[in-house]
This record gives sequence, C-alpha cells and structure tokens, in this order.
Amino acid sequence: MDMPVLVLNYNYEPLNICAARRAVVLVLGGKAEVLEHNGHDIVTPSQVLRAPSVIRLSHLVKRPMPQVKLSRREIFRRDNYTCQYCGLRTSDLTLDHVIPRHRGGGHTWENLTSACRACNHRKGGRTPEEARMKLRRQPFRPVAGPYYAIERRLQNGAFAEWRKFLPASLGQS
Ligand SMILES: [Zn+2]
Repeated sequence: MDMPVLVLNYNYEPLNICAARRAVVLVLGGKAEVLEHNGHDIVTPSQVLRAPSVIRLSHLVKRPMPQVKLSRREIFRRDNYTCQYCGLRTSDLTLDHVIPRHRGGGHTWENLTSACRACNHRKGGRTPEEARMKLRRQPFRPVAGPYYAIERRLQNGAFAEWRKFLPASLGQS
C-alpha cells in the first residue's frame, strides 16, 4: 500500500506521486481512473484490487505553485555544492548564516549560504564585511519548476510504466 503511484491531471499532465493507499481511495471514490497497474494486488477486507501504478484525475485541478522546501540539502544544491566564500566544491559543507543569528539574521533562503568548514570557522560569528570575506553570490530563493515535486521523488527511481506519461526531461534517472 506504500508503493508510489504517479498522479496525472485530467489533461494527462504529471502532477505528483502519492502512495498506493491514497490512489486507491481516489479511484474507489470515483475521483480518478487507473491507467496502469504495477502487477501487484491489494487485498482489502472486502475485495482484491489490482494495485495502481499510474492514475488520472477525473477533473482538472489547478497545479499549485511549487515551493522549494528550505533545507540543508536544498541550500547545498542551490549553491552547486560549492563554498560560497572560497569556491571549494566539497561534500563536506556547512550552513552559514550570512548575517549571524545573534545579530538578527534570519533562517531564510536569503540569509543562508553554503560554506566549507574552514571558511565557516574563519568567519565565526561575524558578518562577511567584518570578516573581510566576500560572498561569490548573494543567496536567493530558488524557483521550483512545474515538475519539482515529481523530480525530487524520481530520484528514488521511476517505474517503466510511468515513462510514457513523463516529459522527456524527467524519468531518465
Ligand atoms: Zn570555503
């Protein structure tokens, strides 16, 4: 019941990925139809269902504007895994508050940047100006593409039967 299911909008646009449990509720409630099955069965107390792999909503929903969730991982990704002070590309990055928190700096996209351990240590509790360290790029809030939610989920792998419903840029992983 936890198997991932690709959810398509009424116009076949990929919307999201949900758990089979949720997909079955949508289908039984008449809110979606099954386009592809994954070859497994779902056994409920009253019936045996073929587990869905791709469903299509029975009405058009307005796609919510996706927002990239603020997290260490997403900050490092935005900064291309590069220390924004010295330019070192490393997997051993730390989060730096450009304006330190105790000086009123927020825990926000615009005040968080990637720093290697050496630069973070050198900067300490100071502002870049005080530490005479220059940021290579001002931190910013990244824009999520329309397929952001799906893209992130696909990093765990897509199923073969999903591919024909996904844009060519997705589902290749
Ligand atoms: Zn550095």
